[in-house]
Amino acid sequence: MSRQSRHHGNAPNPGSLVPPLLSWFAGAARDLPWRRTLDPYGIWISEIMLQQTQVKTVVPYWERWMGELPTVAALARAKPEKVLKLWEGLGYYTRARNLQKAAQQIVQQHGGTFPATFEDIVALSGVGRYTAGAISSIAFNQPKPILDGNVIRVLTRLFGIADDPRSKETNARLWALAEELVVHSRQLAAPALPPQFRAAGPCSLLNQALMELGATVCTPRQPKCAECPVKSSCTASLTGRAESFPRLAPRVSATSLQFAAALVERKGCWMVQQRPSGVINARLWEFPNVEVTAGSSDTLRHLRKAFGLARQKLDHFQTVRHTITRYRITLDAYSVSLCDSGSLPKLTGKWLPLEKLEQLPFTAAHRRLLDNLVRSSSSTVAKT
Ligand code: SF4
Repeated sequence: MSRQSRHHGNAPNPGSLVPPLLSWFAGAARDLPWRRTLDPYGIWISEIMLQQTQVKTVVPYWERWMGELPTVAALARAKPEKVLKLWEGLGYYTRARNLQKAAQQIVQQHGGTFPATFEDIVALSGVGRYTAGAISSIAFNQPKPILDGNVIRVLTRLFGIADDPRSKETNARLWALAEELVVHSRQLAAPALPPQFRAAGPCSLLNQALMELGATVCTPRQPKCAECPVKSSCTASLTGRAESFPRLAPRVSATSLQFAAALVERKGCWMVQQRPSGVINARLWEFPNVEVTAGSSDTLRHLRKAFGLARQKLDHFQTVRHTITRYRITLDAYSVSLCDSGSLPKLTGKWLPLEKLEQLPFTAAHRRLLDNLVRSSSSTVAKT
């Protein structure tokens, strides 16, 4: 990558943006728990959790995780179910599995010490260029660039880049600009942050400043340009077009999927199944369910047929709607109580009481069903 990107028209000189970004961050940085540590392990966990998840959601997850699995070694030897349980609710479970794989890699290849070079970090399972750049710069103050959705928004606005940032050429140009900024920061003194933050070098602070600006000031809608430390150099703001950047090509539209689930109870236990390895949400638990034609108005009939529940009384329990990546999912759940121990040949799984189910990692939609079951069973107990 060229260290010197081409500067177009009236676009600012990247080097001139660095000092105001650094001093702004010293005064505006949010006090987040992972900003109090220089431990690359904790920074890595925070970066993976923050992908497509809001800061306020991540804080309690990160604190619980660091309490239960405080080191690379603890993560490497933890039971996979425990790792998934700590991740439950964040979605994208492949990330949790990759975290454990990478921890095992660090133990085997680096004696349990978190690697300190970009090349070794990017070789870890589940770590891409962005995450490796974030860890190298934030934990080790190396001049490695970062480019995520927030930084793309800031840079396309500052430099007035109107092409689709996902196109190969524009993406490369944005990485080059991000690199130019962080390389420039290396020669400057790091401003002092309030005492609760870890002492960090200028490359660390510059990359964090870009992320923070995108998250809190240069927001997708109604950016707060009046509060922005680089407003006097910003191409988009100076021409009154901040919200028209970045110009993303439209994404493919979402696909609808529909499922029917059976909450089958017998003698105070509920049947659950574990998803196999190698599929999405592998090894998470869920209630027996079947995919039906999207838009189907008769999910109950499909459920009866799939699980041999032709004669039982099934009551509609809940409809859960949620979205995973580009899938819009509707899950119709029905409850059925079996009063005898008669077998159901088409249903296999484990029979467990609610208190045991609560200890298992569930897929997001089925977790909502379980939470509702727990709520309705405690209100039934309270009434009796
Ligand atoms: Fe974003 Fe406005 Fe700052 Fe430009 S001036 S970087 S549009 S917040």
